[in-house]
Amino acid sequence: MAAAKPITIVGGGLAGLTLGIGLRQRAVPVVICEAGNYPRHRVCGEFISGRGQATLARLGLLELIKHAGAVTAQSAAFFSQTKSTASRPLPSPAICLSRYNLDAVLAKKFRELGGEMVEGGRFTKDFSEGIIRATGRRAEADVNEARWFGLKIHARNVSLAADLEMHVSPRGYVGLCKINDGEVNVCGLFRKQSGQAGEAKNGCDLLRGQPGSPLQERLGGAEFDEDSFCAIAGISLRPQQAASRAEICVGDAITMIPPVTGNGMSMALESAEIAMAPLTAWSGDKVSWNEAAQKIASDCDATFARRLAWAKWLQRLMLTPALQNPLVALAARSDWFWRLAFERTR
Ligand SMILES: Cc1cc2nc3c(=O)[nH]c(=O)nc-3n(C[C@H](O)[C@H](O)[C@H](O)COP(=O)(O)OP(=O)(O)OC[C@H]3O[C@@H](n4cnc5c(N)ncnc54)[C@H](O)[C@@H]3O)c2cc1C
Repeated sequence: MAAAKPITIVGGGLAGLTLGIGLRQRAVPVVICEAGNYPRHRVCGEFISGRGQATLARLGLLELIKHAGAVTAQSAAFFSQTKSTASRPLPSPAICLSRYNLDAVLAKKFRELGGEMVEGGRFTKDFSEGIIRATGRRAEADVNEARWFGLKIHARNVSLAADLEMHVSPRGYVGLCKINDGEVNVCGLFRKQSGQAGEAKNGCDLLRGQPGSPLQERLGGAEFDEDSFCAIAGISLRPQQAASRAEICVGDAITMIPPVTGNGMSMALESAEIAMAPLTAWSGDKVSWNEAAQKIASDCDATFARRLAWAKWLQRLMLTPALQNPLVALAARSDWFWRLAFERTR
């Protein structure tokens, strides 16, 4: 029998690591090339919600993540500048763990399964047969469009009204979420008009919220872990189809769901799982690279199309300043709106 053909995964974030682990469980030789070094912080709400949790269970990774300190989020509350909701049960629970811990334990698991990890250098070669793109979000090049940047920092001494608090403001939103070791992740997405440079430099001020806002009150006594601060700019939220990509992509490299949904990590996990069987078949010489690519792209597009469409409108509504107070007031009066939004975006 011919030896299994090797696969190279470029990018060791959640999608690349999950795919690497799944392929190693199927005895496929895998190399992951990761630009950074584990452990490292990432800009992320660190709130895993949706079908990706079932992927983690099927791959036998849930226990590992629990041992790494993951906590369960069961409730959520919403705040605008002047309105708020009470704490409400989440329609389904989420798992919360810092990316610092999560990616490091998955990288360790990948190595234990016999995967080869090349850390600390960007992959700069061409993508050819056998190479998967798991490089995360694409940078936005269109300077005429309003752009987004993301910030995150961990904090202690923050008492939340619910396991997840979402604070919307005219600049964007900040999510506060209980994570491992008694810390709270403070993560936000902010609007930046082209031409205004360097706003992320005042990141902590933006994350603390405007004077008099419920967010600023909540973080009044917070002790921030400066080492965990990170920022990313030029985020593109324009949806893209997997079938339009020349390479086989997983995770944000396909497209990025608006972060306000808290479903990006789930899509990273789900797309990695979708790719496992076709890539195993290619590695065993049972299908061509093109056949594997087409199967992965069409399954990803079919799985994600509906939630991407809902997410686009949800984010647009939630981040339109004039709608923020009425939307939070509506969510306070009725479960219907936010349950619908929650269910349709995952
Ligand atoms: C503000 C904000 C808040 C968010 N909140 C949430 C949330 O609460 N819940 C949720 O589910 N999702 C959230 N997300 C989305 C989530 O972070 C992403 O969907 C998820 O990280 C995607 O995983 P990935 O593996 O595709 O990409 P990433 O995690 O970005 O990993 C990509 C990896 O590729 C590496 N890489 C890139 N280029 C190269 C190269 N050339 N060579 C080698 N390595 C390379 C990078 O170093 C990185 O490690 C949020 C995103 C933002 C911006």
